[in-house]
Amino acid sequence: KCPANYVPLSPVTFLSRAAAVYPDRTSIVYERTRFTWKQTNDRCLRMASSLRSLNVSKNDVVSVLAPNIPAMYEMHFAVPMAGAVLNAINTRLDAANVATILKHSEAKMFFVDYQCVRLARDALKHLIDDNTPLPLVVMIDDIDAPTGIRLGELEYEQLIARGDPTCPPTPLYDEWDPIALNYTSGTTSAPKGVVYSHRGAFLSTLSLLLQWEVGSEPVYLWSLPMFHCNGWTFTWGMAARGGANVCLRATTARDMYRAIADHRVTHMCCAPIVFNILLEATPAERRPLAAPVRVLTGGAPPPAPLLEKIEHLGFRVTHAYGLTEATGPALVCEWREEWNRRPVEEQARLKARQGISVLTLADVDVKDLETMQSISRDGKSLGEIVLRGSSIMKGYYKNRDATDAAFRDGWFLTGDVGVIHPDGYVEIKDRSKDVIISGGENISSVEVETILYRHPMVLEAAVVAMPHPHWGETPCAFLKLKKDCVQGSIKEEDIISYCRNSMSRFMVPKKVVFMEELPKTSTGKIQKFQLREMARGLKAT
Ligand code: ADP
Repeated sequence: KCPANYVPLSPVTFLSRAAAVYPDRTSIVYERTRFTWKQTNDRCLRMASSLRSLNVSKNDVVSVLAPNIPAMYEMHFAVPMAGAVLNAINTRLDAANVATILKHSEAKMFFVDYQCVRLARDALKHLIDDNTPLPLVVMIDDIDAPTGIRLGELEYEQLIARGDPTCPPTPLYDEWDPIALNYTSGTTSAPKGVVYSHRGAFLSTLSLLLQWEVGSEPVYLWSLPMFHCNGWTFTWGMAARGGANVCLRATTARDMYRAIADHRVTHMCCAPIVFNILLEATPAERRPLAAPVRVLTGGAPPPAPLLEKIEHLGFRVTHAYGLTEATGPALVCEWREEWNRRPVEEQARLKARQGISVLTLADVDVKDLETMQSISRDGKSLGEIVLRGSSIMKGYYKNRDATDAAFRDGWFLTGDVGVIHPDGYVEIKDRSKDVIISGGENISSVEVETILYRHPMVLEAAVVAMPHPHWGETPCAFLKLKKDCVQGSIKEEDIISYCRNSMSRFMVPKKVVFMEELPKTSTGKIQKFQLREMARGLKAT
C-alpha cells in the first residue's frame, strides 16, 4: 500500500510548476508567435479537456505527424494530461510505415501538421484498403500564417479554443503507466513500439538535465526532431528548467544560425549530420555566435575531425550515445578537467568516445554474448554493449518475442559492438544489428532488402552501410539478378528509381552493385562483413 504522501513521478508535473513559478517567462518562440509558461499550461489544459470530450481516455494512443512546431511541444503535455499516450511519428517515413504504426498502436486520434497532409492521406488510404478502423484526424494548421489546408473535420486551434482550462488533468495513480510510444526502424515487417512510462520519462529527464548541467533559463533550439525519443526528453526538460523552446520547422543552416543569433540560443541537441549543415553554410547564411552554444550530439558516431571543426565555430559539444529503447541518451562522454591539457586532436578523439552511463542507468557493460562475461577494460577487446537501469524500456508494445530477444539476464542488448577503455569509457567499434545510420536516421537493411527482393529481376539482395561524406553512412545494395535476365538489361538507375517509388526517400540505396555471386558462408549465409569491406571503397553514384 502506498503512503498517503505518494505522488507518482511524472514529467507532466513540470508544466504546472513552470506556470506557477515562471508564469511570464517565455516558453515557446516560433516565427512571430510567443507564449509564456502560463499560456502554455493554459493551452495544454484546454487541449487535454478537448481530447477527453472527444472520448480519449486512459491509455488511448494519440499519434502525431509534425515537425518541431508549438503544437508538437504542447502535445507532450496535453496528451498525457488527458491520460493518453503520445505517439510521435517520424515524418521521414513513407506512407506504408506510417500506416503500420497507426494500425499497430491502434491510434485513436491522429494529429497532422499541414506540411504532412499528403503523407497522412496516403497512410490513411493504406488503412482503408486494409479495412482498419481510422483514427479521428485533427489538422494542425500553421499558427502564424494559417493556410486553410484541411484534412478531416477538426483543427488544432479550434480544439484549444473550445477546451476548458479550469478542467483538471486526468489523475495519474501509477507512475508505471505509459506516457509515450516510440517506434524504432524496421517497422514494416515487425513493428517495434517502445513504451515509455511516466516514471522512466521523469527520471530520464532529470538525469539528462543534471548530466548536461543545464542551468536555469536555458534558450533551447529545437534542431533535434521531437519525434526522436521525445526530443531526448528535453521536451519535458525545458518545462522543468523554465527554458525557452525555440521551435524550427526545418534545420537549414540559415534558419539555425538566424535563430541562434536572434534568440541567443544557449543549448541544442542534434545528430552529427547537423554539424555538416552548419559547417557547409554559405557566408550569407552564417551569423556569428554571440556566446558559445552548448550542443549535445548523438544518434550516430561523430567523427573526431568534425567535432574539432564545429568547436572551432564556438559550439561546445558534449557527445552522447543512446537508443530509443533507453529513452534517448544512455551514455555521455563526460568531460574530464585534465583532458583540457591534451592537444586539440587528442581532445577530439577522447570526445568521440561514447562515454560513461547517465545517472538513470544502473550499469553499462561490454560483454561477450556467448558467455555473458564482461570483456577486459583494455580498449581493445570487443563485446556487445549492454545496459541496465530505470531508463531502459519495459518492453516492446504487443511484441513479446522481440522483447524477450532484446534482454538477457536483465541486460538490454544494444546490438552495438564496442570496447571499454581502462578509464571506464565505452567506445563503439561496430554494429551487430542490421542497421544503417544515415544522417542520424536508422535504416533497417532487412527492410530495404525485402523491397529489393520484390523486384522481378532480383534473385538475391544484400544491403550494407557505405561511408558517405555528408550522411555518415548510406545504404549500398549488392544484387544478384535472376538467370534469365539478359546482361545489361537493367541498370543501377532502374533499381534506384524502383526504390524511390517503393520506400522512404532516406532509405534508398545511393549505390547498387550487380554481382555474379554474393559472398556466402559454408551454410549459405551472405557474408555481410565482406560486402561492408567492399562498400568501404565505393562512392555514391
Ligand atoms: P536515436 O533515435 O537516438 O537515433 P535509435 O534507437 O534510432 O535512437 O538508434 C540507436 C542506434 O544509433 C544505436 O544503437 C547506435 O547504433 C547508434 N548510435 C546512437 N548514438 C550513437 C553515438 N553517439 N555513436 C555511435 N552510434 C550511435
